[in-house]
Order: sequence, then structure tokens, then C-alpha cells
Amino acid sequence: MKQLKDFEQELNKCSKCGLCQDVCPIFKLNKNDCAVSKGKFTMLHGVTKGDLTLSKNINKYLDMCLKCGKCTAFCPAGIDACEIINTAKIEFMNKSYTTSILQFIHKIFMLFVKFCANITKPLRPTLKKAENPKMVLLYFKGCVNNVLPNTDKYLNKIFKGLPVDIVEPEFDCCGLPFLSDGCIESFEKVAKSNISKFDCKYDYLVTDCASCESTILDYPKYVKDFELLPSKSINWGNLIAFLDIKFVFKKNMKITFHKPCHLKNDVFLNKILKNCTNIEYFKMQDYDECCGFAGSFILKNNKISKELMKNKAKSVINSGADYVITSCPACIMGLNYGLNMMNNRKVKVLSLLELLAMADEIKY
Ligand code: SF4
Ligand code: SF4
Repeated sequence: MKQLKDFEQELNKCSKCGLCQDVCPIFKLNKNDCAVSKGKFTMLHGVTKGDLTLSKNINKYLDMCLKCGKCTAFCPAGIDACEIINTAKIEFMNKSYTTSILQFIHKIFMLFVKFCANITKPLRPTLKKAENPKMVLLYFKGCVNNVLPNTDKYLNKIFKGLPVDIVEPEFDCCGLPFLSDGCIESFEKVAKSNISKFDCKYDYLVTDCASCESTILDYPKYVKDFELLPSKSINWGNLIAFLDIKFVFKKNMKITFHKPCHLKNDVFLNKILKNCTNIEYFKMQDYDECCGFAGSFILKNNKISKELMKNKAKSVINSGADYVITSCPACIMGLNYGLNMMNNRKVKVLSLLELLAMADEIKY
């Protein structure tokens, strides 16, 4: 894995053009230069040159980032802000006495998820198996879906008429919460455990959590000697669009879509919408703006988080839709939190799979 000093040239590429300020959800709220990559890069460049030390103050601004990647997408120099901020955070935590406390908290978190997964196990159906499978799907469920029992039911219904096997080894957490906390040891442990389970025959590794998918695709950046073929990794939305599955709803449904920050692309949406009868789509303003939840960001920057969640909820309500659809369990929590803060009684939050499983007829 790279060290912060390895990014010195990259940090030097920042021309201070300020384009990232126009797109950073946090800068748009607080106008704080250190909240956006331009300011963070100035500080971190100072660290790589030896003019500054990686202090608690700098760490505060490393934590003030949603890792939404918007700045990277708009940066003319193409600087990967998330990788640099994660690397700096890891270096800060490597010297911090709180690392062992955090590692302990991560262990408790993992035990809690496993405990909940065991409790909900009897409520889950066995995942779909075909007699002569034409496709094997390796399902990476993610922590939140491990706690909620319904995802398997949705998948079984959606793929009922197709010769596919859905296989689910006991994956660990993808590691994103540990990476965001800068605990590389906890991250490497779960990443290596997950990687060992990719060593089987399958056609696609599928997730319905945008954060899990993007973290898995980032493993080669942080875990030695590992390269996952990105073409093998896909989210359920892309797969359903690719398989051209059609959904008939008897009742008209007005929906809007929230694009999670970590969702690599949402090209599947148009294709799925075309394949749905009686679904009316209303594009909300800033449909790809962060929902504000962003894992531990909500704990470290609660005020900013709540502001972002409220803004997102306003966009959802103003869209005129009755349902807001997304494909990340953390965004589902953020959307619900925001809508509750706005005393919403009308709009319901659904995962893409839940919506599609509500169809009255599914055609293959
Ligand atoms: S957009 Fe890129 S080059 Fe411009 S200020 Fe931001 S980080 Fe620097
Ligand atoms: S990743 Fe998102 S929140 Fe972080 S600096 Fe870039 S635009 Fe701002």
C-alpha cells in the first residue's frame, strides 16, 4: 500500500483552481476551505514536504469528508481524493493511541452483525438454486442486509424464472467503516478473509450495497498482491438490466431515485424503468448528491450530516414521488432519517430490489 509521501507529486498537481469547491457537498454548506480537497491537499502537501505534521487539527479535516468522490470526478488534474485522504488517515491513526480502542469497537461491531445475522437466519429462505444453472452469482450481502432478513426473498422472487444459482459464502464486512477510521489492520483482516472466498467458480460477484461494491473494487489499492477482475463485479441493478427482466405493476407507482455516492454508474436505471409497466419516474433535484449518512461521518460531523439529510429529504419530497428508490442500505437509513426530520408521512424509502419484488408479474 502507498504511503502519504508517495502522493507528493500528485498533491503538487493541484492547481488550486477551486472547481472542487463547486461540487463538494460540505463546502457548499460551510464554505470551509479545509473541508474540500483543495484545502486538504494544501495541508497534506505541507506534510509531505515536511513543513507540517499530521496533527489532530488536520485529522479533524480528514474526517470532514463524505468520501463521495465528487471532487475527483470534477478535478481537471484527476487527483484521487479518497485514496489520498484514506492514506493520510491511516498514517495518522498508526501513531494514535486510540487505534487499539477503535479496533476493539470494530470487533464488537463484527460480533454484533454476526449475532444479528444468526438471529434472522430462520426468517430467510434458502437462496435460489437451479437444476441446470447457466450462471452462478456470488452474493456479497453486506452488514446491513445481513441484519435485515428480506433481501433473500426479493432475490428469489426476481430471479425465480431464470436458471441461476445464487451462492453466498460467509463474507465478512467489506471493511469500509474500518478504512474510514484509518484502521488498516482491521481493514486488511476482513479484506483478506473476503478475498479468500472469491476463490471459487462464479460468473459475477453481485452486491446490492454500492459502498460494499466500491470498497471491494478498491481492495487492490490497499491490499497487497490482490487484483479482482472488475468485469466480474456488478450490482444487482446492472445485472437485472443486462438480463432484460421485465416487471409488470398493476398499480401505478410514482418513484424517484437517489444515486448513492459509491454507485459507479446508474445506467441500469433507464433500462429497468423501460422494462417496468406502470412505474412513473420523477427525477429529483441533485439526485446524485450525498444523503448525508456516510457511515461514521454521521457520528463525527453530526450537524453537517443532519443538514445534508434534510436537504436530500427536501429534494425527495419536492420530486412529487411516493417512493424513493436507492441501492445502498446506508443511504436507505440516511433517507429515512432525513424524511423523519422533515416529518414526512407520504414518501416511502425502498431498495431497488424491494421495489422490483413488489411487481405483480415478472417476465423473462
Ligand atoms: S479541482 Fe482538483 S486541481 Fe482544482 S483545486 Fe480542486 S483538487 Fe485542486
Ligand atoms: S470526497 Fe466529497 S466530501 Fe470529500 S472533499 Fe471530495 S467532494 Fe468533498
